[in-house]
Amino acid sequence: MSDFATQSGAVTEWIERYLGNPEAYPVLAPVRPGDIAAGLPAEAPEDPEDFQSVLADFDRIIIPGITHWNHPRFFAYFGVSATPEGILAETLSATLNVNAMLWRTSPSATELEEVTLRWLGRLLGFPDDFHGVIYDTASIGGFTALAAARESLGLEIRQRGMAGRDLPALRLYITEHTHSHIEKAAIALGLGRDNVVTVGCDDRNQMLPNELEKKIRADIASGMRPMCVVATIGTTSTTSVDPVAPIARIAKDLGVWLHVDAAYAGVTAMLPEFRRHFAGIEDADSIVLNPHKWMFVPVDCSVLYVRDLGALQRTFSLVADYLVTPEEGVRNGMNYGLQLGRRFRALKLWFVLRTLGAKQIRSKLRDHIALAQELATWIENEPHWELMAPHPFSVVCFRHKPPGMPEEQLDVHNYAIIEAVNATGKVFLSSTKLDGRVVLRLSIGNIRTKRDDVALAWRLLRDAALQGTSAA
Ligand SMILES: *Cc1c(COP(=O)(O)O)cnc(C)c1O
Repeated sequence: MSDFATQSGAVTEWIERYLGNPEAYPVLAPVRPGDIAAGLPAEAPEDPEDFQSVLADFDRIIIPGITHWNHPRFFAYFGVSATPEGILAETLSATLNVNAMLWRTSPSATELEEVTLRWLGRLLGFPDDFHGVIYDTASIGGFTALAAARESLGLEIRQRGMAGRDLPALRLYITEHTHSHIEKAAIALGLGRDNVVTVGCDDRNQMLPNELEKKIRADIASGMRPMCVVATIGTTSTTSVDPVAPIARIAKDLGVWLHVDAAYAGVTAMLPEFRRHFAGIEDADSIVLNPHKWMFVPVDCSVLYVRDLGALQRTFSLVADYLVTPEEGVRNGMNYGLQLGRRFRALKLWFVLRTLGAKQIRSKLRDHIALAQELATWIENEPHWELMAPHPFSVVCFRHKPPGMPEEQLDVHNYAIIEAVNATGKVFLSSTKLDGRVVLRLSIGNIRTKRDDVALAWRLLRDAALQGTSAA
């Protein structure tokens, strides 16, 4: 056997054993900061080392410091988990190792991306004139969209910059529930945090369109320049849904770019019963969703759909002499963002779409949503537990409120519950804050999660709450 056959056999065996039983590991890595680094030598080796010994160290040193996103009871943040076919596609992509910066540097990478994103757009019910581009993350897709929004103002910022000239303040409209990457984009694009305007929400954590309109009009009246409004379908803390239709109408009337962040919940547009959340999407300028989040494609794979692909090109295209290429009418990936090099990410999307089929993706999403809804009824029916927000998708926010415990102790008490359940190694949940109060957040999205997993988490939570109360 060749070395490669032996080595890849060992790796395949490892992967098979791992994916067959990720529950063998504690879901949250039980190590302290510095533990892993301390187990590694200070210098890189001069002489080549044997593959087997590196693989052995992978098991011995690296794995103990892994938090297992593949674990069926990973309930923190938003789950990311991949199908075995997606993982193998990623291996093929690593093998080809192409750089799809230009069409000619791998025509298949460019054209497969166009075709799979058209497939996906149709499954999602997006208009056919939306064009998709794959990026690594929603953060970069969002940044790219906002950069295009800035260039679309016609202020020649690309050419003349922003400093040393007389420009109005450029304004960006979000809510307190908008993901933090939007504000980071405002920092990087030179808007400044002071020009990020927070619009109020109703009691369901959804942006108030009337307030948005008032704020935009007031800014115009005082000489500022509204640049972009960000609506979120599935916010990060509670998965609330901003009303896209009225927001889109206001944005259109007032000439403001509308970016829709649907990184997590965007895939639910594949479910007819969830389409209502996407009403008005046809008037958006850009929308982001992450197949790597809840569509079982390995990280990283995020998709930005834009109505006007030219807007991205007008923002980012800059063709150096050494990149000039004779083909006409083709997409050259480097023209749609900051990065020149691009991985062949469409390959894993293609493998996952074909090997699951839309039907299995839809049924997984529905399973996860049903599990979350069932958990919500358990919480609702349990004395001294309370739901803290509506739960339209697969995330539930809640807390324990023992009788007689004053409000100011509840945060500490609920943090202690999270710490206690996470320390069991059997589940991993994260927390957030709503109206200044600590809430527990259980998010379902892992392809391996079953009803028993959610039930076990709920039992551990109640045990921890009981212990926390009796200790107090
Ligand atoms: C997860 C998430 C993001 C960030 O996604 P990355 O791909 O990690 O950048 C942004 N917005 C929302 C709503 C999200 O759920």
